[in-house]
Amino acid sequence: MTTHNEKKLKILIVASEVIPFAKTGGLADVAGALPKALLHKNPHLEVAVVMPKYRTIPDGKWSLKTRISGLAVPMGMGEVYCDVLEGSTANGRAKVYFIQNHRYFDRDQLYGTSEGDFGDNAERFAFFSKAVLEMLQAIDWIPDILHCNDWQTGLVPLYLKKFYKGNPELKGKYAGVRTLFTIHNLAYQGLFPKWVLPMTGIGWEEFRADRLEFYDQVNYLKSGLVYSDALSTVSDAYAHEIQTPELGNGLDGVLRDRGEDLYGIVNGVDYEDWDPATDKDIPQQYSAHTVEKKEASKKLLLSGQNLPYQEAVPVFGIVSRLSDQKGLDLLAEIIEPFLSMDVRFVVLGTGDQRYHYLLEGMRSRFPDKLGVNFKFDNRLAKLIYAGSDFFLMPSRFEPCGLGQLISLKFGTIPVVRKTGGLADTIEDMSSDGKRGTGFVFENYKSAELLTVLRRAVETFGQPKIWKPLVQRAMTQDFSWDASAEKYLELYRLILGKP
Ligand code: ADP
Repeated sequence: MTTHNEKKLKILIVASEVIPFAKTGGLADVAGALPKALLHKNPHLEVAVVMPKYRTIPDGKWSLKTRISGLAVPMGMGEVYCDVLEGSTANGRAKVYFIQNHRYFDRDQLYGTSEGDFGDNAERFAFFSKAVLEMLQAIDWIPDILHCNDWQTGLVPLYLKKFYKGNPELKGKYAGVRTLFTIHNLAYQGLFPKWVLPMTGIGWEEFRADRLEFYDQVNYLKSGLVYSDALSTVSDAYAHEIQTPELGNGLDGVLRDRGEDLYGIVNGVDYEDWDPATDKDIPQQYSAHTVEKKEASKKLLLSGQNLPYQEAVPVFGIVSRLSDQKGLDLLAEIIEPFLSMDVRFVVLGTGDQRYHYLLEGMRSRFPDKLGVNFKFDNRLAKLIYAGSDFFLMPSRFEPCGLGQLISLKFGTIPVVRKTGGLADTIEDMSSDGKRGTGFVFENYKSAELLTVLRRAVETFGQPKIWKPLVQRAMTQDFSWDASAEKYLELYRLILGKP
């Protein structure tokens, strides 16, 4: 039920990437889709988003206007200046603010190149975090909820508490602001040498094991975990897993301490952006009733990859960051027996150099079966989702995962490891073929992956099982509706806390 107070609820989503403006992974999808989903639930909310203004976001394309020029942001070594630009998202219903500082953000990449992270990331995102808080009084819009995301925004809750909430000069302006911190991936923590601390403006009294010190380094994510009013992560399973030493990345103790304030809310998919029935990027639109039209995408995908098309031969696809997390090492171990089967395999991704080499090597051994594409390409991604029969996600760990959810909608059957969000969203095919939406293996072992791949290929050859499976996949509902409601409930709960 919508209460009177909620009508006025003001929410600011703080994120380092947001679709459609900039994206390297699932965080951007979430930060871009959540405002729309929240407003769909309750049009009376005031929702805004703030992110850095990267070079890859042209002012003209998004009709950005300068809202504030020369905003002074006090950092450890003095004031640093930025402009605040304003645009919109969610069909104009949510404002998007961009923090513009040429030295920090006028770059082609968001966080680094394939050689490694930018050397000044500590400075860039400390500045971004402080600038967000300065911006609020400058634009005269103080939200009730600051919804921060991942390590890049980890200092926001700390800055808020230390420099804004109780600051008498600000006359209580920020006193009512509450913070939610969402972990999209605990493996990325924003770990920096302790000598960055003076630059942030944060005093050494914070450099303690129960605050942002982490093995003699500064940990931005930990700051988010310690200082926020509540925490969430992007699936129930991952919320439990990160409280264990296996997947806690050294922060499981902190997360157990905050266990009562930690919630799991699974990501949704924005079906306005991801739906084969309306997608203009694929050669033929299709739905669960017209699955046979999916074949046009398969043909186009394979011809673009110079791989031979045969109706009876299944196509496996991957669209992913190429990192340790995503199970590529597992795949490498069994690539030979896998590609010795009658299959085609198309990979799209960017990331660690060693996975580029590894995939290049595989391609030269299997030129008629494997296509590899080292780039970030939304159109090709769509074509892979639509044109593949299977989507491979053998992740070592997976906070939520969007690839498997998008695949379901495109009638592309996920082959996944039972971890995190993959465990929460994909049900293994039952032996009679009547239940399940994908193929799931349990342990991070290449032999298990190979077994499940064999099972997948066998099932593809059984039309009586295959077609209902594809239709079942396509009719799963992972829209944002339920998740947006859960975020709203959580915002209310945080505001109700003493
Ligand atoms: P993560 O956030 O860990 O990278 P997710 O599965 O949550 O993984 O989200 C990945 C998102 O990024 C999906 O929308 C996927 O389609 C997209 N994506 C990943 N790599 C590429 C790429 N090279 N080109 C286009 N889209 C990509």
